[in-house]
Amino acid sequence: MYNFVSKGGVVLKEVFPKIIGNSELCERLAKSLLSEDPDLPHAYIIEGAYGTGKRTLAIELAKALVCENRTSPSASALPCDNCRSCRNIAKGICPDVIEIGTDGKASVGVDAIRDLRRDIHIYPNDLDRKIYIINDAHTMTAQAQNALLLTLEEPPAYAFILLLCENSALLLETIKSRAPTIRMKPLSPEETERAMLASDPSLETKKRSDPALFDDIIMSANGSAGLASDLLSGKEAARIAEMRRASEKFCILASNPAKSSALLIHLTEVCTQSRETAKDQLESFSLAVRDLTLLKRDSDAPLRFFSDRERATDLSDSFSLRRLLLISDALLEAISALERNMNTRLTLISMLSRFGMLN
Ligand SMILES: [Zn+2]
Repeated sequence: MYNFVSKGGVVLKEVFPKIIGNSELCERLAKSLLSEDPDLPHAYIIEGAYGTGKRTLAIELAKALVCENRTSPSASALPCDNCRSCRNIAKGICPDVIEIGTDGKASVGVDAIRDLRRDIHIYPNDLDRKIYIINDAHTMTAQAQNALLLTLEEPPAYAFILLLCENSALLLETIKSRAPTIRMKPLSPEETERAMLASDPSLETKKRSDPALFDDIIMSANGSAGLASDLLSGKEAARIAEMRRASEKFCILASNPAKSSALLIHLTEVCTQSRETAKDQLESFSLAVRDLTLLKRDSDAPLRFFSDRERATDLSDSFSLRRLLLISDALLEAISALERNMNTRLTLISMLSRFGMLN
């Protein structure tokens, strides 16, 4: 969201009220949209990890561009979400906002782009713009990208094309040179929670029934509200909660050299089912140790593992910085050993001996 403020400090308009986080890019787009004649290019690449709000931004951008109250001084928000254009786009029934995607296949094929190329030359029905949203644009085949390029070179004046992609490196340079890239940043844990609850208010009940699991999942989702929602509704939830409990126990045991045999037993319990489990678990340990290391330097550091800062600070205080760095190195080395298919048990033992927890 971006607050457009008058000289007297009064908020005149909230632009993109539904967009959570990403305030710099909201500000950039808002400034352009608020002008009489929006000077947006004909196409944008919206890049961001799965579940970071690319489609939400595309829909909000489409609404803002055609909102009947776009320049009205009386509308307190852009998009207003009240006019006919905003409402129809929100309901997915606006004939001039067209979404294409993989259609259940592995990639966006050339046929979908050929349809777009034919359709784009037909004047808009309802609005004065015609807006295309290409979901999973990073999966476009080379043939599809080349076909799209022809359109990007000479789009009709009313056309606006949004390419949603997880990785713009998979797009042709020629496409990238014709469509500036908007990058969605991963959300902070607080923003992730707000985005999840905004897109599915029923998650509030899940949060109330198991707040610890809810926090755990948010912290594991690395700033992706979509991933957090998926994790919360799937079987993964229990596994993640267990893995995180195991990581916290790892930190508690590792802070006390007298607990070395308990630590070995713990590692044997949680890491020896399969090499994949062991690797995931070591990565989770590593994320927890990273938080504890950051807290040594800055008590306000953004945390990626611990949802309870006070608890994390106490744990961090039980280590010296040197010891945390040693453990962190040993973990990274063990993860890389497992990637090279080294024996899991031997890897764990050598890791423990590296930070002096083996006797
Ligand atoms: Zn509107």
